Amino acid sequence: MNDKIFDIAVIGGGPAGLSATLTGRIRNKQIALFEHLEFSEKLQKAHLVDNYLGIPQVTGAGLMQHFSSHCLAHQPELIKEKVTNVFPSEDTFIIVTSQTTYQAKAVILATGVVPTVLFAGEREFLGRGVSYCATCDGMFYKDKDVAVISYTAEGEHEASYLSELCRTVYYLPRYKGTVPESRGNIHVLSAIPKKIIGDTGVEKLATDQDDLKVDGVFILRQSDPVENILPGIELNGEVIKVGRDMATNIPGVFAAGDCTGQPWQIAKAVGEGVVAVLSAIQYLQEHSK
Ligand SMILES: Cc1cc2nc3c(=O)[nH]c(=O)nc-3n(C[C@H](O)[C@H](O)[C@H](O)COP(=O)(O)OP(=O)(O)OC[C@H]3O[C@@H](n4cnc5c(N)ncnc54)[C@H](O)[C@@H]3O)c2cc1C
Repeated sequence: MNDKIFDIAVIGGGPAGLSATLTGRIRNKQIALFEHLEFSEKLQKAHLVDNYLGIPQVTGAGLMQHFSSHCLAHQPELIKEKVTNVFPSEDTFIIVTSQTTYQAKAVILATGVVPTVLFAGEREFLGRGVSYCATCDGMFYKDKDVAVISYTAEGEHEASYLSELCRTVYYLPRYKGTVPESRGNIHVLSAIPKKIIGDTGVEKLATDQDDLKVDGVFILRQSDPVENILPGIELNGEVIKVGRDMATNIPGVFAAGDCTGQPWQIAKAVGEGVVAVLSAIQYLQEHSK
């Protein structure tokens, strides 16, 4: 557990999160910025962006370079870890990452949207064999068999960690590029996962090839369904329900950017980031009286 209590934890380093962080730092708040991948890998893929006011004809990567260098010049604490859970506690929020825990007085969710079709059985068995964090839940599978479905190369570390605890680790990489070779008790499979099957808990992972008999399935995506990160958050369809002040239904939790809904555009994400952090600062002022 990191002992420092941040004023605001910003989860996600895309346009919304960087914008919130910049304004928060200008207002002299202690900000922890959580980003586990590149700053908006999604936007970095855009060949040409020509609708952001004042910066015409720029690549997505170029624009993110402007955004991130401006934000980081104001020295937020950048934490290159994936947030797996946020829990409200007495006066703060506990932010759980794949490595440790942090505390903050307010939270801004700026996780973007990754179109995600959940596996059949995923929601049903969440917490009963399905997990999004090996470091958090790995010990429950000591000497058991697990599968790791990973959409990012980060999953390779998680599979290695699990291989120290578990009897067998089936690793199913779902990303492009070089994938690791099978080694020791880690079996790297090209099979396409289809369905999680069980009764009271997970028993099998069905794939397009074989059914794997497993006790647990770890699913590592670029972004997890937000309701799994922060249980109890109110959604509007698949996006986070917010008011004009970007407040969610949970006091002290705000949201900005694509995760609050359309239009999915940079300018909207940047603007919402500013509103969210100003609302968070007002919340801090009201709660420090
Ligand atoms: C190919 C492409 C081209 C586009 N072109 C344009 C364009 O020309 N103009 C335009 O206005 N818009 C464009 N968009 C849309 C634009 O990219 C988005 O609207 C914008 O990036 C949204 O910003 P955001 O900060 O809300 O989310 P994102 O940019 O998605 O950023 C979210 C960040 O949060 C991080 N994250 C997620 N979960 C966690 C977690 N649990 N822990 C830590 N970090 C986490 C992610 O790694 C990511 O970096 C384009 C999108 C794509 C895909």
